[in-house]
Amino acid sequence: MEQAMELRRPTILIVDDEKTNIDVLVNLLNGEFRTIIAKNAEQALKRLGSKEEQADLILLDILMPEMDGYELCRRIKNNILTKNIPIMFITALSMVEDEVRGFEMGAVDYITKPFIAPIVLARVRTHIELKLKRDLCEALAMEDGLTGIPNRRRFDEFLEFQWNAIQRRKNPLSLMLIDVDFFKRYNDNYGHGEGDDCLRKVARALKGAVPRAMDFVARYGGEEFACVLPDTDAEGSVAVAKRLVNAVAALQIPHEFSEAASHISISIGVSTITPPVWGDASHLIETADLALYKSKASGRNRVSSIACEKPQC
Ligand code: GH3
Ligand code: MG
Ligand code: MG
Repeated sequence: MEQAMELRRPTILIVDDEKTNIDVLVNLLNGEFRTIIAKNAEQALKRLGSKEEQADLILLDILMPEMDGYELCRRIKNNILTKNIPIMFITALSMVEDEVRGFEMGAVDYITKPFIAPIVLARVRTHIELKLKRDLCEALAMEDGLTGIPNRRRFDEFLEFQWNAIQRRKNPLSLMLIDVDFFKRYNDNYGHGEGDDCLRKVARALKGAVPRAMDFVARYGGEEFACVLPDTDAEGSVAVAKRLVNAVAALQIPHEFSEAASHISISIGVSTITPPVWGDASHLIETADLALYKSKASGRNRVSSIACEKPQC
């Protein structure tokens, strides 16, 4: 992860309606940073909406026709996808009240024009460094240390997001709970180190076997994994679950002490909800858990599915 961040040049979005201002800033920053420009607020919002061009810092003019820099700042801070991008105002407004207002709106810095180039550069470097370190901390806090896949905290966040999204999209949402069979015996007989190694391989196999980029695999805890399949109905998710069972079987990790197979195997419980939804995502987890219990009770190394339906009162 750290390596990926080093390879990517930090990106700075410059928003200014004056071409000469843009040119000076681009000259100053290009090379060390990747710069993208917007000549007005509308263009800036469009650029920020594109996934490929996520900015690490925004240099923002205040006086611009139509939407001014304050209003643009407010919108950026109100959008969950952009609110963590630091904003540095660079403006001709030099009154103390203007500056105070800028900071109150969530900006990290405020520079008045005409600016001194080396000072702008120094401040940009500081804010970029802080931003990249924060990104790294956030990424690490969401990653499982053993397997490198998303952890339980990230899973909870993703499921919650998808749960809210289906109320708008009206498509089904499926969840799988995945548990390694007879894993205690594996640990007891082959050692904890081999057990860890096995969990890493299983995580990689699961991640490699889900068909779409949106499908999400996480470590749920211990030897349990979870997989969230947005826009996937019961039939589709059972098909994916079978792929996962086969992918883990294909690892051919010998497990002499398992009663389910001669190799490491998994049991899966699938639950699907079709809108309208009610309550919260815990219903989906409980139903997937019931389905997993069914797989375990009926011999393991298999898939069971239960629809998540509104309880009758
Ligand atoms: P079942 O087929 O019913 O799922 O049986 P099981 O033995 O897999 O289930 P149980 O819950 O009894 O045991 C899970 C084992 O997983 C116990 C625990 O030591 C092991 N385990 C959990 N987390 C880790 C881990 O991070 N590394 C290793 N090596 N083992 C782990
Ligand atoms: Mg378990
Ligand atoms: Mg188990």
